[in-house]
Amino acid sequence: MPVALYNTMSRSVEPLQPLAPPRVTLYTCGPTVWNYAHIGNFRTFLFEDLLRRWLEHSGYDVFHIMNLTDVDDRVIKAAAGAGKRITEHTEPFTQAFFQDRDYLRIKPAHVYTRATQYIPQMIALVQRLMERGVAYKGEDGSVYFALSRFPTYGRLSRLDTRQIKVGARVASDEYAKDDPSDFALWKKADAEDESVGAAWDAPFGRGRPGWHLECSAMALDEIGKRFDVRTLDIHCGGIDLIFPHHEDEIAQSEGATGDPFARCWMHGEFLNVRGTKMSKRFGNFLTARDLREQGVDAAAVRLLFWQSHYRQPIDFNDEALAGATEGVRRLGEFHARLKTSGGDLPELVPTLEAECTAALDDDLDAPRAVAALFEFVRAANRELDRVTGRKGSGALAAFERVAGVLDVLPTPKAVDPDLAGWVAERLAARDRARKSKDFKAADAIRAELKARGVEIEDTPMGTKWRVA
Ligand code: AMP
Ligand code: ZN
Repeated sequence: MPVALYNTMSRSVEPLQPLAPPRVTLYTCGPTVWNYAHIGNFRTFLFEDLLRRWLEHSGYDVFHIMNLTDVDDRVIKAAAGAGKRITEHTEPFTQAFFQDRDYLRIKPAHVYTRATQYIPQMIALVQRLMERGVAYKGEDGSVYFALSRFPTYGRLSRLDTRQIKVGARVASDEYAKDDPSDFALWKKADAEDESVGAAWDAPFGRGRPGWHLECSAMALDEIGKRFDVRTLDIHCGGIDLIFPHHEDEIAQSEGATGDPFARCWMHGEFLNVRGTKMSKRFGNFLTARDLREQGVDAAAVRLLFWQSHYRQPIDFNDEALAGATEGVRRLGEFHARLKTSGGDLPELVPTLEAECTAALDDDLDAPRAVAALFEFVRAANRELDRVTGRKGSGALAAFERVAGVLDVLPTPKAVDPDLAGWVAERLAARDRARKSKDFKAADAIRAELKARGVEIEDTPMGTKWRVA
């Protein structure tokens, strides 16, 4: 069975049909680097990570583009507030985003496009839209997209075209669904834009790009120059991007090329806090660095998110995180057990693999894959309790394959070199004690190690140890 995904455009689960398989071009709207991303943003980026990993696991050759919005209304306001130029303000947040991405084990995109580095492409796109008569310069000096010249506007968000206010205009990057008006492609520069370095010369006047324009220009440029195509295979974001952001991206891109902008549109649901969207605006947010500083294992965040389908909202709270942390601990313990006393478990492995494949093929049903993984842990533990010394490593390989796609095994704890030196010395002493048959002393050393959280295990290759 092929991979099937929910396409927001058709409101149904459809088999994935890339333009030129096995290649899949994937564009994911990235963070606005005016500040640290919060874990709500990362829920969306993690859903995209799972999508990317599952497609790759299924044999697709994914080319993943993520943009970094380093110029928009919010960036300009934040930079002006900090008395900095935009790039000076955004660069540390961009670096912080990469660190948080690595902490959360999100696979890096193949390219990160910074909006400020695609200004010529944005200008060319606006010019093309003006030439085709779907954009015009308003008397305020900004350039707008003419909704009346693009009859299919509103298809993605199922907007009733009667709602469109002919001739009304909106300049801000974000506006409400009941406000579908001509939107700004290029905003005439004002004094604040100039003061933070967010103004560029263009044939239609000095100004700066609107947020929606940025994504259209970057996506079309990247897939055009790399693959000579004008249609993305998959375009993703959080559900709040359906309108107006993605609707406007479609209008701009299709208005310029005449081709469909994306074959499949995917949107992840929100991470909420007590029923309200996690958002900077509401002050109910946590950043990835907050979690890292609290010592939260990234595997627990991943597992917590996988326990709900990406199209279902998640309510973030301490109990849910504690539950996921416990789940990760169990997976780690089981993994360690499989490594030392594995087996092929031929009666369990095929079920695990078939269940996980069926689940993830079916619109990335991660909760079902997680359930299959834990069911395997239970059944395998029972089996290993019953029969000891089973040969083979089939179970270990299968478990690592599935757990590897979800990437939910605990992060190995970094070991303090002083502790390592002390453990080595104690283990040597224990060895000597055992050789001279002083088992009492050997046991005492084991207890001494345990008291400092060090667990040991004697194997044919020598004594192994780990910090529990
Ligand atoms: P932004 O940095 O605001 O442009 O947002 C980056 C991404 O995070 C977008 O895809 C948003 O849809 C997504 N996003 C924002 N808030 C949340 C949330 N609370 N839960 C899930 N995704 C979110
Ligand atoms: Zn975008």
